[in-house]
Amino acid sequence: MRSTYKTTGIILSSLDYGESDRILTIFTTDFGKLKGIAKGARRSRKRFSNVLDPFSFSHIIFSKKERDTLVLIESCDIINHHPGIRENLDKTLFSSYLLELTDKFTQEGKKDIELFQLLKHFLAVLDTENHPEEFIRFFEIRLLKLSGYEPVLDRCMHCKKPVSHAEAYRFIPSKGGIRCTACHQNHFDSFPVSVGTLKTLLLGKEMDIQKINRIVLSDRSAKESKVILSRFIYHLLGKDMKSLQVLNQIREMGI
Ligand SMILES: [Zn+2]
Repeated sequence: MRSTYKTTGIILSSLDYGESDRILTIFTTDFGKLKGIAKGARRSRKRFSNVLDPFSFSHIIFSKKERDTLVLIESCDIINHHPGIRENLDKTLFSSYLLELTDKFTQEGKKDIELFQLLKHFLAVLDTENHPEEFIRFFEIRLLKLSGYEPVLDRCMHCKKPVSHAEAYRFIPSKGGIRCTACHQNHFDSFPVSVGTLKTLLLGKEMDIQKINRIVLSDRSAKESKVILSRFIYHLLGKDMKSLQVLNQIREMGI
């Protein structure tokens, strides 16, 4: 027997399938991440129009049999299409990275309302405001915390002394945190990080999400936080994020 469900969700990815169907990965409020098929999606403009594109936030009705892993998308109604993201290359690149990260750090069928709210908030901010690339560091640090991979940035992981301006630190991706100079023992895979950067990341991790768009990172903190967080995420996933490679290549080309 098929049952029908109603929810809201953000399209993480969308892939053409066969003559006119689409396979979608959707992060929903009530059911976590789902994979679904939208039959005739490319023919039926009326039923689906462009609501099935990545970044769209929509009301969704789907049906499934108990043991199905692929659900059938019955209809979608747009809530926010995020036009500001779609018409700007930088915003599209940043947002694609957020979608890919969310996809990588979530399991199918596991509801996670806090992570959903995080993604929804960042897409809404990127849609309506202009931010430099370093703004997405706060998404990374909050996503890591919510997924149980919070890096240790407030004390040396070895001697446990709290971060102090009198010390210098290195971040060790394989350990998931920092060590002070005395304790890091020339670890082969470690990266210098200033106390200013550590404090800014800690602030962005804990403060009211409505206010993080006001934090400004210095050039040094922007560089350091990108290195340590992307190296840590690379360590956790065991591979590079496709969308980050594209972003870096476009930066190198000076576009
Ligand atoms: Zn130490």
